[in-house]
Amino acid sequence: MSEKLKAFKSRLQALKKRYPAYEHFFDFYAQVILTRKGFEKTPQVKVPKIEKQVFDLKLKEGFPLLSPDEFSLDTNHAQELFFRLCESLKGIPETKEKAEKIEAYFKDHPEDLPQAFKSFLEKKDFSPDGLDENVFNFLLFQSLKPSLHACAEGLTPLLKNVYWDKGYCPICGHYPYMAALRENGKKFAKCSFCEYEWQIERIFCPFCGHKDHKKLRYFEVEGEEGYRVYLCEACKCYLKTVDERVLADVVDLELEDIATIHLDILAEKEGYKKKMEA
Ligand SMILES: [Zn+2]
Ligand SMILES: [Zn+2]
Repeated sequence: MSEKLKAFKSRLQALKKRYPAYEHFFDFYAQVILTRKGFEKTPQVKVPKIEKQVFDLKLKEGFPLLSPDEFSLDTNHAQELFFRLCESLKGIPETKEKAEKIEAYFKDHPEDLPQAFKSFLEKKDFSPDGLDENVFNFLLFQSLKPSLHACAEGLTPLLKNVYWDKGYCPICGHYPYMAALRENGKKFAKCSFCEYEWQIERIFCPFCGHKDHKKLRYFEVEGEEGYRVYLCEACKCYLKTVDERVLADVVDLELEDIATIHLDILAEKEGYKKKMEA
C-alpha cells in the first residue's frame, strides 16, 4: 500500500472516531474513494494541446481552458474502474440491488459504456431503462475522476505563473467544493470536477466574486477548530474551508468534505447553498 493510501486510511479512522454518528456514511464514501485510490492502474491520457494564442485569449477573457467534453479520457481505465466500483457498491446494503442491475446491464452491453461516459461529460442523459440514475451517474463520475484529474495535471504546468482571480476553475470552469488555508494564510480552492487547485483571495466569494468583507462572514462549530464555513450574503452560497495549519493531519480534502457533512447541513438550514456549476 502506498504511503499516501496509508495516511488516508489513518485519517479516515481518526475521523470515524471523531464523528461516530456518521460511521455509516463514512463507510459508504470511504469504500468508494478507497476503491478508486487503491486501483492499481493509472490512466493514460493524452493531454489536450492548447495553442498559445488560444491559451492567452482564454485567460484574458476569463474562459476555462476546456469544456468538460474536451477532457481526454482513458476509456479502458474508466471502464475497468467502473466494474470495480460496481463490485464495491454491491457490498453495501443500500446500493446492492442498484449496483447489481447496473453491472448486469453493462456486462451485457459493454459497448454502451464509452457512450455513457461521453454523454455524462456532455451533460446528456444516458440512463438505460430500469437503472437507478443517481447511483449510475455517481458511478460514471467516480470512474472518470482519475482521467479528469490526470488531464488537469497535464495542463497544470501551463498555469504555473498565471494569476487566476476567478472563483471557477481555470481548467474546466467548475466551482470549488472546498478550500484550504495553508502557510502564510494563503487560501486554495479545489475544483469539484477536475480537482485542480488554485489560489484565491481570503476575503472573496468564488461564486459571485464579491470581495466586500461586509457581505462575507464565516461560522465555526465549537470544539471543531480548523473547519470554517464561509457564507456570502450577496449570493447566499457557502464554502467549507479547512485550516491545514490547525489540522495538521489533513491528507485529502475529499475526505474532509465527507467528514464535515454536518457543516453542510448547518449552512443549508441557514438558507445557504452549495454551488458546483456555473
Ligand atoms: Zn476544474
Ligand atoms: Zn457570493
